[in-house]
Amino acid sequence: MDRITTIAEQRAWSRARTRDGRRIGFVPTMGALHEGHLSLVAQARAAGADTVVASIFVNPTQFDNPEDLAKYPRTLEDDCRQLAAAGVDAVFLPTAQEMYPDGYCTFVEVVGPLTDKLCAVARPGHFRGVATVVNKLFSIVRPDVAVFGQKDLQQVLIISRMVRDLDLGIDIVVAPTVRDADGLAMSSRNRRLSAESRAKALGLPRGLELARRAFAAGEHTSLKLCENVYDQLLVHDGVEVDYCDVVDIHGFAEADTANDRCVLAAAVFVDGVRLIDHVALSGAAIPVSVED
Ligand code: AMP
Repeated sequence: MDRITTIAEQRAWSRARTRDGRRIGFVPTMGALHEGHLSLVAQARAAGADTVVASIFVNPTQFDNPEDLAKYPRTLEDDCRQLAAAGVDAVFLPTAQEMYPDGYCTFVEVVGPLTDKLCAVARPGHFRGVATVVNKLFSIVRPDVAVFGQKDLQQVLIISRMVRDLDLGIDIVVAPTVRDADGLAMSSRNRRLSAESRAKALGLPRGLELARRAFAAGEHTSLKLCENVYDQLLVHDGVEVDYCDVVDIHGFAEADTANDRCVLAAAVFVDGVRLIDHVALSGAAIPVSVED
């Protein structure tokens, strides 16, 4: 696996593959890798990529909280071992200075319903940072197909919108959420959970599953569905619910009454660690194509 640190070198690498007629798959990450990330590599291959680039870049512009950025886990050598074992051909590892040199002042912002609720409320500027860095990474790596996890549902919807609005011509593949055996969605942040905190965090997937069952049993009032999540989590000290909302995936409007197109999405702080997860209330796969 090639390790690439400069933009010029990554561009040359990608250009050479494209000239050879290869279809480049791309998996952007912030490192501290787990099986969820590795599943994206497999999805890139399944989507027809015959060469795969991953990136590891803890993007400062998407952190609204400097403490969160400082605490973000960094496990570079282990990450590279995992990517090589997963068959990644090149890993792009730029520095913050390489990506945002002095004088940098251009940002990409998706506006409207996708960026005025859920994670956007408590993390102002977060999605602007994500859209900007993903746009930059796309223009450096020049992939044919890029893979993102459904775990970060709002993020992948925003990126799909951006790709379509800016005519970037990249296929976006959405990979299902990979969970640990206990049901917790894998996340780099889970490393910061003690055994006790993790036990509390399990209230999130449990509450989401209870909400899904309640919906299947005929409960369609969003507040009632959300109570399943609150009830599982707020019995613990050190747990705070940032948001718990029912959103219609088509148009991304908040829904007081849930329907088959809705997801229940939540973000919680468990002993200071922020975790997100969601469930499709109908139990069906979520179509993450951007609708007009
Ligand atoms: P991150 O390193 O957290 O920025 O995530 C990089 C990519 O991995 C994003 O597209 C995430 O949605 C995806 N991802 C993170 N956790 C999971 C998971 N548990 N299952 C599937 N994809 C994931």
